[in-house]
Amino acid sequence: FLEFRDVHKHYGSHEVLAGIDLSIERHQVVSLIGASGSGKSTLLRCANALEPITSGQIRLDGDVVSGPGVDLNGLRRRVGMVFQSYNLFPHMTVRDNITLAPRKVSGLSRAEAEARADELLARVGLTDRAGYYPDQLSGGQQQRAAIVRSLAMDPEVVLLDEITSALDPELVAEVLTIVRELARDGMTMMLATHEMGFAREVSDLVVFLDQGAILEQGPPEQVFDDPVQARTREFLRMVT
Ligand code: ATP
Ligand code: MG
Repeated sequence: FLEFRDVHKHYGSHEVLAGIDLSIERHQVVSLIGASGSGKSTLLRCANALEPITSGQIRLDGDVVSGPGVDLNGLRRRVGMVFQSYNLFPHMTVRDNITLAPRKVSGLSRAEAEARADELLARVGLTDRAGYYPDQLSGGQQQRAAIVRSLAMDPEVVLLDEITSALDPELVAEVLTIVRELARDGMTMMLATHEMGFAREVSDLVVFLDQGAILEQGPPEQVFDDPVQARTREFLRMVT
């Protein structure tokens, strides 16, 4: 459904993605794990063209979504993204953050967009915070609002980059619960995480990146309990 074919990404002479071949099925949850600098964020950013790839191809539901001539607005409607730092617009209320793109990009009326926003906010337990500004929310609430904002465009895939790493431990659980619920509802997700417990619990497929290459991939039990590669074992020993 989301396919990477021999994807390379260079920054100058530095090769950050060294030929990624990866297929994500519809409704699958895929976790990217690997050391800092291994290319997890870059791979996510390439998937919605926040970064151009150097060579190779990315396809979404058969459509080429990499390279020149890609309709960026169209792609970003189809591929939602949530960041570690939430990236909510500080001068807008939660509700306005969520309705902005549906109104401006999809042409929904304010009433339509707000009805949808309120429905999504209810799902994540934020109904009573719709009129608040981001700095009036806890980190976990801001991250839940950011997730809702990415869902408001009804994306086909959501990319989640370290969405819990800025959060205090007691706030992590509430964000993970949302991700788990989305997974249960069949949302296709690709996430980068340093939380191995979370990756194990939520993923259908775990992908271990090492220096921009996929060294190993498989179901969580296999990658975590019985890794094939010595590098994977070493990494897991260090982080768990
Ligand atoms: P972390 O776990 O720390 O988030 P990561 O696996 O997400 O790491 P990336 O952010 O994808 O790693 O970075 C991969 C490599 O690409 C790093 O060596 C980084 O320095 C480099 N890199 C990332 N963005 C740029 C950029 N805009 N210009 C140059 N190099 C970059
Ligand atoms: Mg990263």
